[in-house]
Amino acid sequence: MTQQKSPSQVSVNTTAILVINCGSSSVKFSLIRPLTGETLLSGLAECLLSSTARITIKQGEEKQSYKLTAPFNHQAALTVLVEHLRQLNLVQYISAIGHRVVHGGEHYSEPRLITEVVEQAIAQLAKLAPLHNPANLIGIKSCQQAFADLPQVAVFDTAFHQSMPEKAYLYGLPYSLYKEHGIRRYGFHGTSHYFVAKQAAKYLNKPLEQCNLISAHLGNGCSVTVIKNGKSVDTSMGMTPGEGVMMGTRCGDIDAGILFHLVDNLGYAINDVDKLVNKESGLLGVSGLSNDCRTLEKAMLEDNHVQATLALTVFCYRIAKSIASYSASLTQLDGLIFTGGIGENSSWVRTEIVKQLGLLNFSLDEDKNQATRFGASANIATKNARAIWVIATNEEWVIAEQSALLLKNLAK
Ligand code: AMP
Repeated sequence: MTQQKSPSQVSVNTTAILVINCGSSSVKFSLIRPLTGETLLSGLAECLLSSTARITIKQGEEKQSYKLTAPFNHQAALTVLVEHLRQLNLVQYISAIGHRVVHGGEHYSEPRLITEVVEQAIAQLAKLAPLHNPANLIGIKSCQQAFADLPQVAVFDTAFHQSMPEKAYLYGLPYSLYKEHGIRRYGFHGTSHYFVAKQAAKYLNKPLEQCNLISAHLGNGCSVTVIKNGKSVDTSMGMTPGEGVMMGTRCGDIDAGILFHLVDNLGYAINDVDKLVNKESGLLGVSGLSNDCRTLEKAMLEDNHVQATLALTVFCYRIAKSIASYSASLTQLDGLIFTGGIGENSSWVRTEIVKQLGLLNFSLDEDKNQATRFGASANIATKNARAIWVIATNEEWVIAEQSALLLKNLAK
């Protein structure tokens, strides 16, 4: 058996972390220098477990795609990746693998070196994240085979929200359900909210611990987080990513009574309800057209598509309401952050949300707003209004940075 590198053999300064984000039929990967965020290589293996499985590897401007061979699985994808890394002489720079793990429950508020115990905990938490944690474990197991000599680190999407107080994470359900079964709010997109909050702290020129922010991660999944003195104190997603604001295909908050009505009176089986609220609702469900914000904006602006307009209007109102509700969590507020594919790119969505937040002294400078696409910008608020930033998220960099830091600390 190959001997695993000990943390003390890992040099943070000269090496790179391979960041793996494993889904049930996909693997996203990036090779990142933790100190600078420089991406040496990135890519995606998709359609895994089907004969159309393929992998695309990007290095700089160059992109190469390969069809995968049987058994078309995660292991097959990693074998191609390892071979590619070897050919490019990049394997020698990889000091560790950092895994995005979706659910860390209450056990994990920090990244962890993956051991058997940690793996068992991730497996147990699969009951709270049945779609995600088993896929993350497949990624971990495949990497253990492909990179047997490298340490593996788990970075949890829930970790940043472990600072939420009881009043924010408890549901109005019998307390025993929380105590005995872990039914509580956990929150997700933690690495993204943390990354953009850190960037906003740089704009504010003060330590994150002194910053009070609201961060709206608007992508295909959407969540809003309120950050007090640098820590998450509430967030819109709950025990699962289904709670909160409306999303691409998820409905977000609804009256639980609707679920009983669907089953009792409209002939839905419980699996149909699951599919309905997670895959057929949100922007897609209301518009009847698409879950893709770009498609809906085009239909609204160019074709006057009534349902597309309605979907985007409901979407923005629900996000504005969520942002406004967080005035209950703060006594001071430095500013609002937009991130994620929609938050970074859709000036229309930003305008529609911010125009409903006048009471909180938010107001957009439309010229700056229109000019802001593809991420980073300075403050796009009008003079004298509260700050609003558009910040490109970089979850992979956080995972690389936190993995390297953990290994450095373990080596001390
Ligand atoms: P993400 O899940 O963060 O990759 O975000 C995906 C969402 O971002 C989709 O709804 C896209 O339509 C949306 N998006 C990406 N680029 C744009 C754009 N230029 N304008 C509006 N929405 C965009």
